[in-house]
This record gives sequence, structure tokens and C-alpha cells, in this order.
Amino acid sequence: MNEKIAIGDGDILLVVDVQNDFCPGGSLAVPHADEVVLPINRLVLRFEHVVLTQDWHPRGHQSFASAHPGSKPYETINVAYGPQVLWPDHCVQGTPGAEFRNDLQIPHAELVLRKGYHKEIDSYSAFYENDRKTPTGLAGYLRERGFKRIFLAGLAFDFCVRYSAEDAHREGFSVLVIEDACRGIDVAGSMSASRQALSARGVRCVSIDFIG
Ligand SMILES: [Zn+2]
Repeated sequence: MNEKIAIGDGDILLVVDVQNDFCPGGSLAVPHADEVVLPINRLVLRFEHVVLTQDWHPRGHQSFASAHPGSKPYETINVAYGPQVLWPDHCVQGTPGAEFRNDLQIPHAELVLRKGYHKEIDSYSAFYENDRKTPTGLAGYLRERGFKRIFLAGLAFDFCVRYSAEDAHREGFSVLVIEDACRGIDVAGSMSASRQALSARGVRCVSIDFIG
């Protein structure tokens, strides 16, 4: 498909977790994460409506390897709600690592949705925490405001972007991922698994060049 996708009133851009700890120099740096900033700064000019998500963990969060003596970052353990990848401590509430990149320019963002604040539950998705039951409230917010189609960009493609896209689709929204405005971590084949999971649900991955 070569036609541009026109952006209208029912569309919103969800910018996922563009925070210092996920960028080079951060504690959970996603390779080349800083490369999303300029494309996103360009992209947001085409959207009247933008929501930001912010990973926002209390100290000692269950997703941190440091909370599990003997475990290492990037190992998977079983917790009450199933498998959970363990991460380096990251995006701790109130720390510089949890702040948005200071070169991200989205003054017109309408909502900052924080996630991952329950100490015992991680939250990759902007819609449901990792127990897959606890809602963040975002689906209700977007529905109440009348949005129909959600575009996603940000970090990391194979975790928070992927699960947010899947949940948005499950909630009945039309969903597109702007893949060249995302970067991934790629733990144990998670990039290809994400592409397959999204395409199996009919979630399209598009280039920024096709937007508006
Ligand atoms: Zn996190």
C-alpha cells in the first residue's frame, strides 16, 4: 500500500516510554533508542492528539532482578501471574532515569499515563498490567474521548509497544505501529515473535513516511 494514511479527529498517537533509562547511558538501554526521538518529534506534528506513557516503578519492584537474590537481569522467572523477565533496576519513580528524554518535543501531549507502579505487577502494556487483568484505565479514557484508531511509536518495540498494540486491538481499536519510530531489545527472539504476533492479529506495521 503506497497511499498516505490521513490523520483525523478519531486518531491518537501513543508514544511509549521514551525515557532516559531506556536510551543509551540508561540502566536498561534499548539499542539505538535515541534514534526514535527525531522521528517522533516530526511525527507528533501530524497528530492533534498525543498520549505519552511513562514506566514508573517503585524501588524494589518485582520486575527488577535486584529484588530476587541469585537472579540476573534478562532471566525469566515465574511469579504469581506467570513468567516475568527480570530487568535491571529502571525508571524508578522520581529519578532522572524515569524522566522523558529532554529532547522529546511534545508540548501538546494531552495525557501522561504512568504504568508499573504496583510493586508486585509489571506492566508492559499501556492498557493492562502483566497479570493481564488489572486495567490502567487507558481504554476507558480513549473510548470516552471518542478515539477509534491508535498509532504507536516508542520503546521497546518487542515489549511495551507490542503488548500495548495487542491490547488496543483486543479493546476494539484499530491499531497501527509506526515501526521506524520504534526500537527493540530483542531478548530470545522477541523481535520476530512480536512481528508475527502483531501480523496474526491484523495489526499493521507501517513506516512514518505513510503517515499524513
Ligand atoms: Zn519497567
